[in-house]
Amino acid sequence: MKVIMLGAPGAGKGTQAKMIADEYKIPHISTGDIFRANIKNGTELGKKAKTYMDKGELVPDELVVDLIMSRFAEDDCKNGYVLDGFPRTIPQAEALDAALAKNDDHVDVAIDIEVPDENIIRRMGGRRACTNCGATYHVVYNPPKVEGVCDVCGQKLILRDDDKPETVKNRLNVYHTQTQPLINYYKKKDILKTVDGTQDMNKVFADIKAVLG
Ligand code: ADP
Ligand code: ADP
Ligand code: ZN
Repeated sequence: MKVIMLGAPGAGKGTQAKMIADEYKIPHISTGDIFRANIKNGTELGKKAKTYMDKGELVPDELVVDLIMSRFAEDDCKNGYVLDGFPRTIPQAEALDAALAKNDDHVDVAIDIEVPDENIIRRMGGRRACTNCGATYHVVYNPPKVEGVCDVCGQKLILRDDDKPETVKNRLNVYHTQTQPLINYYKKKDILKTVDGTQDMNKVFADIKAVLG
């Protein structure tokens, strides 16, 4: 099963993608997590990506597409995956479709998690991320057991630099201009499913399970 998560920054793509990955035993692939790991390890790719990420802009398509293609080549992708944060532009979606078509393959479903901008701004300030394993929390909606510490791996939680309010506003603009057109792209292919992302995260997941069967 090949699933794509769509939605604004902070809509809950990562939270839901992790639950889908556990339930359906497929890998959760987050381009944002891969870039952050590269930044942490000081790679060339990380250095390039950071200049865009810090401003809340998108990393150029070529860099992202190469990165994701090499990830698909890994063994764990054989039975599918849930993509979180990719594709984010029409050219990325076209590159994905073209790569899959070479093997007579296709995306099964694109899930759009709908959350209005006002809710997003409130959510992002409270997001805390693990610098080690990528788990995310929210200070009010999904707090860790011990404040500031990751439940999964025990490492420190941080407020991402790009989750500060000024950058969030820019990321929302970027989302509306460059990523939102993907909704229509997948609607036309008849694989778009929409869920109400303002609900409690377990209710959102129940709706997603109903869609995925
Ligand atoms: P969020 O979880 O808030 O949606 P991500 O962790 O997915 O954010 O992405 C963080 C940043 O990484 C983005 O603002 C962008 O700069 C970069 N990025 C991640 N995925 C992509 C992509 N597919 N194309 C371009 N840039 C990306
Ligand atoms: P995305 O990957 O789309 O950027 P995340 O999954 O990281 O979004 O969620 C953004 C923030 O909102 C996190 O702090 C997360 O804990 C919180 N969150 C996710 N889903 C919900 C929900 N349904 N209700 C309230 N808060 C949520
Ligand atoms: Zn962790």
